Amino acid sequence: MSTENNLYQNSVEILSDLISFKTISGQDNNSLINYCDDILKKNGATSFKVYDEGKKRVNLFATLKAKKSNGKVPIILSGHTDVVPVSKGWSSDPFKATIKGDKLYGRGSCDMKGFIACALAYAPIFANSNLDRDINFSFTFDEETACIGAPLLIKELKNRGFNKGICIVGEPTNMKIIDAHKGAYEYTTYFEGLAGHSSQPHKGVSAVEYAARYVTKLIELREKLKDRTPKNSIFTPPHSTLSIGGIFGGIAHNVIADKCHVKWETRPVVKDDAIFLNKELDKYVNEKLLPEMKKIYPESNIKKEIIGEIIGFDREENSEACEFVSSITGDNSREVVSFGTEAGLFQEIGISTAVCGPGSIEQAHKIDEFIELKELKKCLQFLEGVKEKSIN
Ligand SMILES: [Zn+2]
Repeated sequence: MSTENNLYQNSVEILSDLISFKTISGQDNNSLINYCDDILKKNGATSFKVYDEGKKRVNLFATLKAKKSNGKVPIILSGHTDVVPVSKGWSSDPFKATIKGDKLYGRGSCDMKGFIACALAYAPIFANSNLDRDINFSFTFDEETACIGAPLLIKELKNRGFNKGICIVGEPTNMKIIDAHKGAYEYTTYFEGLAGHSSQPHKGVSAVEYAARYVTKLIELREKLKDRTPKNSIFTPPHSTLSIGGIFGGIAHNVIADKCHVKWETRPVVKDDAIFLNKELDKYVNEKLLPEMKKIYPESNIKKEIIGEIIGFDREENSEACEFVSSITGDNSREVVSFGTEAGLFQEIGISTAVCGPGSIEQAHKIDEFIELKELKKCLQFLEGVKEKSIN
């Protein structure tokens, strides 16, 4: 069998192994990370891990060192190890890779264990090459639940002085370049008032009514976000959006509700919009709503919980990462997407970043998720290009 065939078979085997680890967001991913770490260490990589508080979930950052350095920036191949939960209706076991025709089925096959499998399969070739720059592997936890793992890793990289490089985030894009997306910020705001009989409204504090005023304020601010639309916005719609996902509270017609919560989110086109929005909102709460509530019942409270703040990924005029990918794939197109990734986090610490990986987002998060096998081959070919550009 040719080396090329071996490489491809390896990537399929590794992908099958990766799928068998049930790394649903929020659950323990240590065994998967150890599996990856073992492969990389066998190939001479050094690595470190960054854990969550309970050590239940972990990020891995591994490095294949340059044999000699001539000033080229390091490469980071980045992927998240978690997958979204499965619902009923799969034709096969979602945690057992199943090949049918030209597709490989399994949870995470395209989003995004396919990319991780290719990177791991390629590691021995990187390791046996005369690398003139470091090749890094960044595997994170809990991306799907508002990017919880990656910020911890990024903080550690920053502490270690890691501030330049080219990062490829291998989310499924059919190996096309994505160079921007909006941010995705999710919040739940809790209102606590004082229960009472509806015939005596002055003696209670209706959490539902204060929540309603809060929602009205959000809708007002949403209009202001439209006024802030940046010139030449590349997004559709071109402005930051805001959406109320749900209002939950109250028990009966004749009871003043003491509890209510509002689930809402915003997708800022620029970071400033999120700052503006939160500032205006907090001001309204602290100067208007809360004092009114507390006047009747001092224990009243409004608490905004951050569910997740995935920062946006901004288009750069001359992106080193995009040019790097284009020079390998020959594809000079640039696209924006509506889903969030870890790209903005790398970008924020000065690492030029492009999102580009095998598989289609069409299949992500779905029942019978699959990756076309030819996508794995395309990704391996891309990694061949990365190697060519990392040897002298
Ligand atoms: Zn993903």
